[in-house]
Amino acid sequence: MSWLEERVALITGGASGIGFAVAERFLAEGAKVAILDRSKEDVDKVATAHDDVVGVVGDVTSYQDNVRAVQKTVQAFGKLDVFIGNAGIFDYFVHLADCEGEKLGKAFDEIFSVNVKAYLLGARAALPELLKCDDPSVIFTVSNSGFYTSGGGPLYTASKHGVVGVVRELAYELAPKIRVNGVAPGGTITGLRGIEKLEQGDTVLSTVPDIEQLMSTTNPLQYAQRPADHAGLYVLLASPQNSRAVTGVVINSDGGLGVRGM
Ligand code: NAD
Repeated sequence: MSWLEERVALITGGASGIGFAVAERFLAEGAKVAILDRSKEDVDKVATAHDDVVGVVGDVTSYQDNVRAVQKTVQAFGKLDVFIGNAGIFDYFVHLADCEGEKLGKAFDEIFSVNVKAYLLGARAALPELLKCDDPSVIFTVSNSGFYTSGGGPLYTASKHGVVGVVRELAYELAPKIRVNGVAPGGTITGLRGIEKLEQGDTVLSTVPDIEQLMSTTNPLQYAQRPADHAGLYVLLASPQNSRAVTGVVINSDGGLGVRGM
C-alpha cells in the first residue's frame, strides 16, 4: 500500500520548486493534492498536467486567500488532513550594512510576511478542518538558515529561525491531536525569488552564475540539491503509520551542514 492513500494535502507554493516536487510525490503515494500559489501561470500549468490537482491562485499573506484554498480543497476532496506551509522568498544575502535603514524595515515586513506570518495564517485557516480528521499533520518548509549562519543575510536567516519557533510552539499547542514538523532543505536549484522591496523580485536563484558549484562546495556531500531530494521527507512526516510519534521535529536535508568542519 502507498504511504499516503486517502490523505488530502494542501501545499502553499506548490506550483514550482520544492512545493511542486512534494505535490508530485504526494500524488504518486496516493494522496489528493491542492496547491495555493501566487503564480497563475504556474498554477495553470500544474492543473493542466494533473487533472486531479486543485489549483488556487492567491497570496499566502492574505488570510482570506488561505481560507479560500482550504474551502476549495474540502469542496473537491471532502476533507483536509495535511497542511504544508512552503511558499517563501529569499534575501539574496543582503548584509545589514549594505541595506539603507528605511528599506531594511520594509524588506523585513515583506519577508516575514511571506516566510513566517503566512505559515501561521495558513495553519489557522486549515485548523478547523484538520481537527475533524484522523491523524492530521502540519509540515513547514524551513531551511538550513533556520539553524546556521551565511545561508542568507540577516532577514532570511531570522525569518527561517522564526519558522523553527513556529514548528516547536505549534507542535506543543496542537498536541495531542495534530503533529507539527518541518523539513529544512539546504541550497536547492529552484526558481526561488527575492524581496521586491529590495528590487530582487525578478531575481531567480537557479540563474545566479555558478550557483550549482557554489551550492555543491558548501556541504560535506558536495551536492547541489534538487527539489525531489526533499520530497520523501514530507511523505514520511505526513504518513501516520510511519511517523506517528514524531512532532516538533525539523529534519535537515542539506548535504550534512551540521557536520561541516570549521
Ligand atoms: P520556488 O520559488 O520555486 O517556490 C516557491 C513558490 O512560492 C513559488 O511557486 C512562488 O510563486 C510561491 N510564492 C512566493 N510568494 C508567494 C505568495 N506571497 N503567495 C503565494 N505564493 C507565493 O522556490 P523554492 O526554493 O521551491 O522555495 C520553497 C521553500 O523552500 C521556501 O520556503 C524557501 O525558503 C525554502 N528553501 C529553499 C531553498 C533553496 O535553496 N531553493 C533552500 C532552503 C529552503
